[in-house]
Amino acid sequence: MALLELSDVSVHYGRIGALSGISLTVEEGEIVTLIGANGAGKTTTMRAISGIRPLSGGKITFDGEDITKLRADLRVVRGISQAPEGRGVFPGMTVLENLDMGAYARKDRKNLAEDFERVFTLFPRLGERKSQVGGTMSGGEQQMVAIGRALMARPRLLLLDEPSMGLAPQFIQQIFRIITEINQQGTTVLLVEQNAQQALSRAHRAYVLETGSISKTGTGPELLADPSVKEAYLGVA
Ligand code: ATP
Repeated sequence: MALLELSDVSVHYGRIGALSGISLTVEEGEIVTLIGANGAGKTTTMRAISGIRPLSGGKITFDGEDITKLRADLRVVRGISQAPEGRGVFPGMTVLENLDMGAYARKDRKNLAEDFERVFTLFPRLGERKSQVGGTMSGGEQQMVAIGRALMARPRLLLLDEPSMGLAPQFIQQIFRIITEINQQGTTVLLVEQNAQQALSRAHRAYVLETGSISKTGTGPELLADPSVKEAYLGVA
């Protein structure tokens, strides 16, 4: 049984269809990546999974349970946690406070210290800046805070929307290395990326989204070698 399964999921914004019946699965332990051009529906897919956007059709199951109509905050309690696109850190809160917000849905607050340590080990920069407010941090640092905050919920499934967006090349490498590390520590990852080269080389499997439909799926290496993927997403003719 897949950890996450989307069956024929559609999402509309008013009368505009953003997703028209997509189906995908994420197995426990995997890194699955979703690639696609601007406006293809990647962020909408993440919002449908985290519960921010209602479906106009189809079904989502998590760990065998139908969560299609479950409230977003209760999905966090079940184990789905999202680091949103555009980072979304609380600008007036310190790094520590931002991270603590990520743990709000946790019942086992006694292990919190351990999780702060895990985040500071993955992102030493955050450990050095615990009391800096989010709004004054650089773009790359804010991205670290957003991922760290999502990890504080101890998710079974971590949703990452464009984690490399706006980062300098050396930060991009680092963020992908950290994503692999998070996965190796036992967290399943669904990743949306425009940086297809990096994302596909880190992913176990991937899906290509084109104007609201899945046009292709395969293992990371299969899609990296696919001529049409190369041409459209890897900048190789
Ligand atoms: P990008 O890579 O540019 O972030 P994306 O693949 O994440 O794109 P989405 O943000 O999911 O794409 O958007 C899918 C479609 O839905 C687009 O055509 C977009 O214009 C439309 N859309 C997204 N949000 C809204 C909204 N709030 N109201 C109306 N249309 C929307």
